[in-house]
Order: sequence, then structure tokens, then C-alpha cells
Amino acid sequence: MSYIEPAPIRDHENPFESMMSRFKIASEILGLDEEIYNVLKSPAKQVTVSLPVTMDDGSVKVFEGFRVIHSNILGPSKGGVRYDPGVHIDEVKALAAWMTWKCAVVDIPYGGAKGGIVCNPREMSAGEIERLTRAYTMSMIEIFGPDRDIPAPDMGTGPREMAWLMDEYSRAIGHTTNAVVTGKPLVLGGSLGRTEATGRGVMVTALAAMEKLRINPYGASCAIQGFGNVGSFAALLLEERGVKVTSISDLSGAYVNEGGIDIPKAIDYRNDNNGSLEGLTGADQIPGKEILTLEVDVLIPAAKEDVITIKNADDIKAKLIVEGANGPTSYKADKIIFDKGIFVAPDILANAGGVTVSYFEWVQNRLGYKWTRERVNRRSDRIMKDAFDKVYKTSEKYNVSLRIAAYVVAIDKVARTYKYRGGY
Ligand code: NAD
Repeated sequence: MSYIEPAPIRDHENPFESMMSRFKIASEILGLDEEIYNVLKSPAKQVTVSLPVTMDDGSVKVFEGFRVIHSNILGPSKGGVRYDPGVHIDEVKALAAWMTWKCAVVDIPYGGAKGGIVCNPREMSAGEIERLTRAYTMSMIEIFGPDRDIPAPDMGTGPREMAWLMDEYSRAIGHTTNAVVTGKPLVLGGSLGRTEATGRGVMVTALAAMEKLRINPYGASCAIQGFGNVGSFAALLLEERGVKVTSISDLSGAYVNEGGIDIPKAIDYRNDNNGSLEGLTGADQIPGKEILTLEVDVLIPAAKEDVITIKNADDIKAKLIVEGANGPTSYKADKIIFDKGIFVAPDILANAGGVTVSYFEWVQNRLGYKWTRERVNRRSDRIMKDAFDKVYKTSEKYNVSLRIAAYVVAIDKVARTYKYRGGY
């Protein structure tokens, strides 16, 4: 077969530009000084490292790793580390800024950061991933720290990688420091409720938004793109509250059952099937992208950024979009979605449950004490609901979308704090 040069993706948007466009609108609404606007738009620190790692076959492969600290105005910076072949510095910059706004929206004392390594963990052995994680940690030893910058899991990473990171950091500084990273296994000081926290926050936000839209959760239909950590827990918790999850998807495709998919069964199936829904029974398989345009009450993109774009925004039929993923909707698609009257609970609000419980994990590590799951859930639900109410009120006050309102809430907090702290 002859090689065909891939055509350029005409409407592919740079996620950093998408984030900046919304930031600019919110800054204008707030009448932000140009000086502060310039401070807040620039990442505080960007680090790029080369990580030579010995592979299982004895060869040495050099991986590229990033850490971007967008802001540490509100406190130590916080943000996940992503292992994916598509990691790009612009993406990491956008995700770091998102973390700043997200922490400010839910009113926790953190700045924003993000990291990533260009790699394909699906094609690497556990030993290779461990060596890569330890090499990355050592390269970032001056950056990370419980009072400086606190990593967490993101796409392609989980408790296992966080344990290696915590161990390598602790060895380097000479004593166990579990507060350097969150999303750890429970025995290493992880928090009860952390694994499901982002999906739980998505559920709380979805129910709060449904209440405003007068959608009865009992029997409301819901489609969820992405069946990883965020998507599967959001599905499970919404199903428990009466919502009918009629379709789910992952990289293998989308699965539809108008009567409702049995979510606990789908989770068990995925867990026994190498993390994939491929071959799921009790549902019809359709092409993955079609999940976004199904006739449902609630759509939850919980896979990756830039999936709702000008190409498909017009075809979306959901009444409510709750963004489990970071940046699933491109800036240009915002207007189309808004004009269609679709209510969007934006990423920096809807998926902030994870960072909220990460904060609880850090607090517990520093206290040297463990909270019960009930306490964690109760407190995170309250934070998520308060944040939703605050953003909703702000959207009414300025007559803007929830997305712009969330940016207004966040930027206002960071800007006011910066004014008090002052610069050089
Ligand atoms: P994950 O790796 O556990 O799961 C990702 C899921 O998305 C997998 O099921 C994968 O198959 C699927 N997927 C990937 N590309 C897809 C595509 N093109 N179409 C359909 N499905 C696709 O990741 P996660 O932790 O659930 O994170 C998902 C999103 O949520 C990311 O945008 C992440 O930044 C964001 N997020 C995660 C957390 C967290 O606590 N894990 C917190 C906040 C935001």
C-alpha cells in the first residue's frame, strides 16, 4: 500500500490558545489591570528534561519530560503527570494553567502545575516505567516538594507511579516524605476516596446542573466518553443515583444500550480485559466518535482534550455537558454550544473533585492522621456544591456562560491574592 501524507487537521486548536481565549474574556469582564493580566498569563516556570532509561533489551532510550509551574501565587503548585505519546509542551502549559484556575474555583490553597513524559506506557514493561518514573523524579528534585510543587496522577499514570515518585524523592532527601505527591496507594498515605474523587465530583456537578435545568435524574439518559478513572466512576455514581447511562466508550469504540448499560458489569469486564471495553456484551458497538452526538440528556466527555470542536459541535444533542476531561471543548466550539442553549459545566469546575481530595490527602499526610471515607466524601461534596453555586451566581451576575463565570471566579481570586502579595 502506498504511503499517504496525512492531511492537516484544519480546525485543530492549540489547547493553550483555547485556554487563553477564555482567560482573556474573563479578564476583560473583571477589568483586570494589564500588569496583572501579563503576570497571570505567563507560566512561572517551564522545565524540559531528557531522561535516558535502560530498556529491558539493554538499549538506552532517551525520553523527553516536562514540568510546567503556571502559578504559585495561592500556594505550592499542584498538578498531574501524564504519560502519553502525544504529550506536548503547549498542552502541558495549558493543563498547568487550568490547574491554577481549578484550584482557585474550588478555593483550595494551591497554584497550578502539570507534567508529562512523551512515552507510550502501553508498550513498556513495569520495570521500564519504574526506571523512567525514578529518572523523571530525580531530574525534578529541585522542583518537587510538599511546600513547592506536588505531582499527582493523570492520563497514563496511577498510584503505582506515584509510589515510585514518592520513594525516589524520599531516598534523595533522606527521609520519608509522603506529602510530596498525591494519588498514592492507601498504605503509603493515600486518602480514602481519592481514586473515585474526580468521578464523584463530576456526579455532584451533574446533579447540581440537572437541578438548575429541571432534569429529573431518575431515568435521565447519559453518554460518557472515556471509561478510565474519571468516566467509569462518574458512570457508576450517576447510575447509583438513578441516571440511565445509555452509552460508554473508550479507545476501542462506543457501546450503546437504550435500556441502560450495566455499569458494575462493564467495570468488571474492563478490569478483566486489560483495561479495554473491546468485546463488551449487552450493548451495541458503534464508532467511538458517535458517542458525542447521541440523543441524550447529559453528555460527559471524560477522555481527552479537544474532542468537541467546530466539526461536531453543531451535531451535539445533549441538554447538558459536564466536562470530566480537561479541555474537551475547543474555544471555537464554545460559541456554537452556547448558541444552541446547551448548558456546560466546565472542566475547571466539574473535574475539580480530584484535586480537592488530593488536597485532603496532603492535609492528612501533614497531620499524620487518616480521615474516614465518609468525612472525605462529605467535605469534597460540599466543596464541589459550593463551587458550583458560586460559579452559577457569577454567571447570572455577568450574564455569561458557566465556563466564563468559572474563569471570572478563579482569576479574581488569584489576581486579588497577587495584589496583596505584590511582585518585584
Ligand atoms: P484514564 O487513562 O484512566 O482513562 C482515559 C479513558 O479515555 C480510557 O478509557 C481511554 O480508553 C479513553 N480514551 C482515550 N482516548 C479516547 C478517545 N479518543 N475516544 C474515546 N475514549 C478515549 O484517564 P483519566 O484519569 O480518567 O483522565 C481522563 C481525563 O480526565 C483527562 O483529560 C484528564 O486530564 C482528566 N482528569 C483526570 C483526573 C483524575 O483524577 N484522574 C482529574 C481531573 C481531570
